[in-house]
Amino acid sequence: MHQSGTIFTGVDCIKSLEHFFSQEVKRYSGIFILTDTNSRMHCLPLLMGQFKFPEDTKFLETEPGEQNKNLQVCTKVWQELAALGADRYSLLICLGGGVVCDLGGFVASTYQRGIDFIFFPTTLLAQVDAAIGGKTGVNLGKLKNYVGLFSPPNAVYIMTSFLQTLPYVELLSGYAEVVKHSLLSSEKYYHQLVLQFPDINAIQSTSNWETVVERSVKIKNNVVQSDPYEKGLRKVLNLGHTAGHAFESYALAHYGKPLPHGFAVAMGLIVELDLSVIHCGFDPKLASEISDYLLSVFPFYAFASDKIPEITQLMGFDKKNKAGAIQMTLIKKPGDLITDVACSHETIEKSLIEYLSKGNSFGFAKTF
Ligand code: NAD
Repeated sequence: MHQSGTIFTGVDCIKSLEHFFSQEVKRYSGIFILTDTNSRMHCLPLLMGQFKFPEDTKFLETEPGEQNKNLQVCTKVWQELAALGADRYSLLICLGGGVVCDLGGFVASTYQRGIDFIFFPTTLLAQVDAAIGGKTGVNLGKLKNYVGLFSPPNAVYIMTSFLQTLPYVELLSGYAEVVKHSLLSSEKYYHQLVLQFPDINAIQSTSNWETVVERSVKIKNNVVQSDPYEKGLRKVLNLGHTAGHAFESYALAHYGKPLPHGFAVAMGLIVELDLSVIHCGFDPKLASEISDYLLSVFPFYAFASDKIPEITQLMGFDKKNKAGAIQMTLIKKPGDLITDVACSHETIEKSLIEYLSKGNSFGFAKTF
């Protein structure tokens, strides 16, 4: 696993792509581009307008959405590749969000025992997270990412110009990972981020994602490089996710409608910052400053307080658990994370109550 040096951003990305399309592309017997309907409509014209693709480039398309990240769709893409004559010397270009990258990377890694593939991530989440780290795969029924491989792409080309057409909810959802990355990095970087994006308007209206995306990619890639097969250190990336996944499961079970992943992560970060104050000595003043920022940017989702035991229970089903206590990744201070902190049901319930009390002070809520 050696992804470093294969992720291109900014000017490097354009230069490298010019070289790729004029030279490297000749190495392949065929070029195949996988998109979903949205990335085909919004992103493919941008890419094809900027670079000269071989005339016999072939196109494959899937329906958008998480529900299409499954083995049936993989089979359809494998069959289409075969019908279009893809061989072991073909290249699959995955142009899309995390779903296209996860599925396309898995399809390419297994087609004829593995062909080359590259990523052009087109959502903020895919650019800062899904396309980085070499994890590919699909869902197995309701079991998320149950079938897959550690298989890094040959290259990742990150063009933030794709983000211009991204729906706002998707943009904001990806932004939660950006905030998480800043906490993995340093207090200084967290404050720089807040300065650049003080409110929702700034997030919605900026066309300048370049530096923020680059920084996030570096932060995630550093973690991944030190633990490519997720044996330990990579767990720091789970900050906000144990509680976040529980909120996602809860929303799905009771309302049948998924909570945007990043919104759940933002809620999870608030809860886990509170737990970090209790368990790791995180500065309470800074924790409430960060929570207030998250609450000012992300929607506050309220739940009935009698549902707290159920949500706590859902955290117990998280993959990262050992018997009895709930194991979480918490934070001592920005840049200093602690993995496998055993948290009791009681402390988690207290932190969920604390979360609910924060919403009241802001006076707005979405209830689920
Ligand atoms: P997504 O791929 O479903 O994209 C979100 C929506 O935006 C889709 O409707 C898509 O068609 C549309 N879209 C994509 N780019 C667009 C653009 N530029 N303009 C307009 N619309 C656009 O979702 P996502 O949030 O990008 O990714 C979520 C997936 O990523 C999940 O399946 C998750 O499991 C996975 N993921 C993987 C990793 C990993 O390490 N492999 C990490 C994090 C998340």
